[in-house]
Amino acid sequence: MSYCEKCGAQMDDTTRFCPVCGAENTAAAAQVVDPNQPPQGLNVMAIVGMGLSFIGIPGIIVSAIAKKRAKSGQYRNPLGPLATAGLVVSILMTIFWIAYIIIIGVAVAKGIGQINY
Ligand SMILES: [Zn+2]
Repeated sequence: MSYCEKCGAQMDDTTRFCPVCGAENTAAAAQVVDPNQPPQGLNVMAIVGMGLSFIGIPGIIVSAIAKKRAKSGQYRNPLGPLATAGLVVSILMTIFWIAYIIIIGVAVAKGIGQINY
């Protein structure tokens, strides 16, 4: 049971507006779930980010979003450490892929040089 801030009338917690003066019941308003907000459950982005981490850059993007969402506190299971792990692995894998592309690139360039007759 709550009381109207304006007129002090008694009203139910679930009632959004005061039946006497029509003022908004702040206690009820706070309980209303914003439909634009994602459901308060698992921060799926952290899992997706970890899954994409082996590719590199997509993992960085998704894990960064997951970290931001974990910090926002809108999830019961924010999986912050997983998002951090996903971000670290993604960065390492990005470095690995860049090194791999350079090595392959150099090998291909040398190969082309040798075939050049
Ligand atoms: Zn009132």
